[in-house]
Parts: sequence; C-alpha cells; structure tokens
Amino acid sequence: MSVRVRFAPSPTGPLHIGGVRTALYNYLFAKKYRGVFVLRVEDTDQSRSVNRAEDYISETLNWLGITPDESPSNPGAAGPYRQSQRKKIYQKHVQLLVGSGNAYLAFDTPADLQNLREVAAQKGKRFIYNWENRKEHKNSLSLSVEEVNALIENNTPYVVRFKSYSKGASGSLSLVDKIRGDVVVDTSLLDDKILVKQDGMPTYHLANVVDDHLMGISHVIRGEEWLPSMALHVLLYNAFSWKAPVFAHVPLILKPTGKGKLSKRDGDKFGFPVFPLRWDKHTLGFKEAGYLPEAMVNYLALLGWNPGGKEELFSLKDLAGLFSLDGITKAGGRFDPERCKWFNQQHLHKKNSAFIEAYLDELLQQKGVANTGVSTAAVVGLVQKRLTLLTDLWDESHFFYVAPVVYDEKAVRKEWKEKTPGILSEIVKVIERAPNEEAETSRAAIKLWAGENNVSLRNIMAPLRIALVGALNGPDVFEICHVLGKKNSLERIRSAISIL
Ligand code: GLU
Repeated sequence: MSVRVRFAPSPTGPLHIGGVRTALYNYLFAKKYRGVFVLRVEDTDQSRSVNRAEDYISETLNWLGITPDESPSNPGAAGPYRQSQRKKIYQKHVQLLVGSGNAYLAFDTPADLQNLREVAAQKGKRFIYNWENRKEHKNSLSLSVEEVNALIENNTPYVVRFKSYSKGASGSLSLVDKIRGDVVVDTSLLDDKILVKQDGMPTYHLANVVDDHLMGISHVIRGEEWLPSMALHVLLYNAFSWKAPVFAHVPLILKPTGKGKLSKRDGDKFGFPVFPLRWDKHTLGFKEAGYLPEAMVNYLALLGWNPGGKEELFSLKDLAGLFSLDGITKAGGRFDPERCKWFNQQHLHKKNSAFIEAYLDELLQQKGVANTGVSTAAVVGLVQKRLTLLTDLWDESHFFYVAPVVYDEKAVRKEWKEKTPGILSEIVKVIERAPNEEAETSRAAIKLWAGENNVSLRNIMAPLRIALVGALNGPDVFEICHVLGKKNSLERIRSAISIL
C-alpha cells in the first residue's frame, strides 16, 4: 500500500504544540514508508477562520523542517488543498448519500430543535435526533416528495443529516485503532449528525471523510480528541462504499502536573511557550524563546512515542528511520519544560557553530555593536557549550564586546581585597611581557609569577575575572584574555584598578 498521510488543521489561531506533534508524527510516518505528507487546511467554518493562521502553520512546518509534500502552496494532483475551495465536491458527494438513502434533508428550525430539547429535559432526558424519533420531525423521511419540493422551492433552510442507524439493522460496529486497539460501538446510540449546514457548507465530518478518501489518505494519524468521531467516520466510509483508512489516535499532551490537557495558561503559569512561533506580542513561541527546531522535533517525537533503547538524542532523519505507530503510547505525554530545555541544550551543543555565529552577528547588529575587533567564531567557540537556550547567548558573551562599566557588587565585596590592586598591577606587567597572546602562555606566566611571589592563584583569578567580565561568571579567564586580545585585556584591568 502506498502511504499517504495528512495534517489537517483548522486555521483558527496559532498552532498548539499538540498539533505540531501530530504534524510531526504524520511527517515521520510518511518519510519512514517513503510516502507522501499532505497539508490540508480545514477552513469550512469561515466564522472561526483567522487569516494569518494558515501562513503561521506553513511557517511552523518549515521552521521544523517538516515541510509537506503537497499543500495549498505546493499542490499535487489531489487539490484543492483548502476545504473552502472544495464546496462543489462536498455537494456532489452529499447528493450521493441522499440518493442512496444514507442521508436526508431536515427542515426543523432552531426553535423546533430547542423545543424538542426542552421537552426531553423536562423528562430528565437528553434529546438526540436519531432512528427512534426522526420520523416525527420535519424532514425528507417524514414528508412527502411534494412537500419537500415545495419547501425547497420556497427557499426554506434545511440541513442534511446522516442516517446513522436504522431500526432492525445490526448496531454493532467494530472499530480498529492502531493505538487504542479494538472497540465495538453500538451505532443505535449515535445521533443523526449534520453533514451539511443551512448555509450549504459541509460540517467537519463530511468534508474530512470525503477529502481523506479523494486525497487517497491511507492512514489517519490525529489527536485523541477525534476518537469519538471515528464511528461516524467509519459509517460514512461504509455508506459511500469506500475502504476506510487506518486510524491512529495519538494521546494528548498533558500539563506539567500530569493532570489535564496542556493549555496556554499552563505556559503562562510555568513560564514556557506552548506555541512554536510568535503569534502576537502576548504570545511568544519556542523559536523566539531560544529553542532550536531540532530540539523541538526531538522532544516532541519522544513525548508520546517510544523508539525503544536508551538513546534519546535523535535528528529528524534518525527519527524518520525509527518511527512506527506501534511505539506510540496509550497514555498522555506529560509536558516537562525542564526536559524540553535539556534537549535544547544538547542540540545547541552539537549545532554547527556557523549557525550560532550568524545569530551572534545579528545580535551585535541589533545592539549596535560594531567593529569590535573580537572574533565571533572565537567567542562562540568559548560559549557554545554554556548555552541552554539560544537566547542565553548575549548573557554569555556580552562582555567580549562591551567592557564592564559597573562591577557586580557581591563579587567585588567577596573577592576584591586591599592587596588586589597591587597584585593586578603586577599581573599587568606579566601579561605585557608575555611573548604572545595565547591562553596557555599567559596561564603559565601568571602561575609562575604566583608561585615565585607566594600569592595564591585564587587571589589573582577572581579579581582578574571581575576586571575583565565585571562579574564572576564566564568561561576560562585566560581564554577570555586571549579572545579580547592583550590591548583590550590590559585596558580593562587598568580601568578596574582605578575604579574599584
Ligand atoms: N480539522 C481538524 C482539526 O483541527 C482535523 C481533525 C482530523 O485530523 O481529522 O484538528
């Protein structure tokens, strides 16, 4: 069987991280089986559609490197890839269902339905429009052909409903889900779902099933929230006499506490993003928060899927080689912000340094720092292994570019002693005399001087660091000296001596 999978988001806002993971699993599955990954935009509900959302979805998939093989902007033979452009296709197909007796027109007004609900509620029941009562309502099953035609001619609004079960039929429907296993559903308990709304637009169920079939989708991999719709979808496939795809419902991503679905509010509360990219000024994405796409892909892939073995760090390509629906867990995956950061740190440390250098160059430009004489490559060489988020880069490297003007008070109180200026004045001479600017040369020279003069190294290193960095953090002091160069370093030491 040739594998064709799809990611089918509704463009109603920024893509939640759960949606991102669904897209990723579809991509991985497609790549694993040399199949096709389709992006279909489910925008039939125009009132909920948000203009920017479709671009946001594409940008997210591109950022993560999981670009679809077929999509609205890169159509294949199965288009159009936006449901709003497929209205005619749905109309044609719903007529087939009406013709075969699997669907019917219902003219009940919203007030009629409200009334039915109230009557049922008075008896402590919930009204469902189904085989038990459909003949009692105003529809093409209860009315004569003439009555129906007259209503249509008068432009009476109607919906199309699916005949989910008929009296006397077997109500037992076996469903197979690759992740959840087998379930048997009693279809006599289902309601007659609306397939086409009064405005002529299809509902999600009809459009989704028709499109999955026409687009040749072999496997439907989607969020668990759609599991309750599976029975209806299988019934629709049966009604059309189509072969249903394989279904795999992926468990939810849970809050860090493990209780309930991860929401934007959790992100605000625990201080981490839940969206891949910035949506508006209140909603930052993982990208802007300093996460690498490689890390997101790695973390999200493992959040609900177990590749087996102990290895945890994978590239997108590795993941595509290993992926299988069998490894998807039944239980929800708890989003752990710290673990997500850990993955980011690991991928940042492995990342090609040229990428981080480019990021630093851009930062320098933004900050208006020019002609520093300090090599970006050398700085990145020293700080890359100290980063957890890309956004840590300025904290870790600013002192290479901007000499300290204030000094960390606590550090000074602790490490800047009475004899420090005297010691550092001698260190200035040692550095001046050193034959070159190599870190190892100054390290050896200062060690030698400390030994000869009976000064503990700590009384040199900490003040030296304060003078160069302005605080007690940063990489190896001699490496800092080397990257700053002799001239810069000496200026900083002299200025600290005179200020402190
Ligand atoms: N449009 C649905 C959504 O927004 C698609 C569900 C499905 O994949 O069938 O999640």
